[in-house]
Amino acid sequence: MSSVVVVGSLNMDLVASTKMMPRAGETVIGASFQQIPGGKGANQAVAIARLGGNVRMIGTVGDDGFGDTLVEALNKDKVDTASVRKENDCSTGVAVITVDEQANNSIIVIPGANYRMTIEDIDNCIDQINESDLVVLQLEVPIEVVKHTLVKAKELGKYTILNPAPAQYLDNDIISKVDLLIPNETELEILSGITIKDQNDILEAGRKLVVSGVKELIVTLGEQGCLYLTEKEYKYFKAYKVNAVDTTAAGDSFVGGITIGLMNGLEMDQAIEFASKVGALAVTKQGAQSSLPYLEAVTQFEGELL
Ligand code: ADP
Repeated sequence: MSSVVVVGSLNMDLVASTKMMPRAGETVIGASFQQIPGGKGANQAVAIARLGGNVRMIGTVGDDGFGDTLVEALNKDKVDTASVRKENDCSTGVAVITVDEQANNSIIVIPGANYRMTIEDIDNCIDQINESDLVVLQLEVPIEVVKHTLVKAKELGKYTILNPAPAQYLDNDIISKVDLLIPNETELEILSGITIKDQNDILEAGRKLVVSGVKELIVTLGEQGCLYLTEKEYKYFKAYKVNAVDTTAAGDSFVGGITIGLMNGLEMDQAIEFASKVGALAVTKQGAQSSLPYLEAVTQFEGELL
């Protein structure tokens, strides 16, 4: 069976729920507190593993307790963590999230060890990359690490998937090494420099990226589904109708779904339909890794299209 390497972030999400957000200088008594494993890299690795994929994570955690907890969570989900390095005298990546009763949130992300990842970490894992068929990346680790990984992966003839989140502008050196780019609407806007107001703008922005060297593009559009675009064709796919309670990790689960679909030899159309089911199921549950569905739930899901 084919295998995949995810190069990316591991974060602990620290979620404080409160009736009212504190203003500057104010202290409030909150309602509850949760610690949920997250980080786009780890989320995507877990999404792939829960869908039955053979996946290895390359990333960095700090030498605090959070790092061990995150690695244990990945191990529990059968993600291979032999290439997750522990950085000394450094905090693990955390996202400090405050959510009020109206579901407004404010978030501070402290990258910590994720930003201590280096190109040597990638070179040290080159055999593992070579043994895999696909390489999946996001943008929560240093950009030079993303670039180096893409260069090495393409030298080794691997299929590369980049989820360009959080949004940031990327130069052509990076874009041209990506086989499949999966941005959401906001990320597409920043990557293309085109303000998106309607479907025509999405197509125009997508075409600009394809012209700059992306071979295949999937723009995820939340409950509007997604757009698939190449130099030759484009096609819209609808989302599935579900009772959405929390859209956290919708994108991460979708990327996991596409990856596993391609690993299993599905055509892109079928992989997108599968990933749309995965994304739909993820929004029916709270949290990041806590919301990622297992293969059984996806195969049993007989969703209706929106
Ligand atoms: P991101 O989390 O990166 O912003 P999106 O919100 O675009 O990603 O979601 C990714 C995919 O998940 C969508 O293309 C869609 O298939 C599915 N999805 C997201 N939100 C919903 C929803 N409310 N109902 C059904 N499917 C959804």
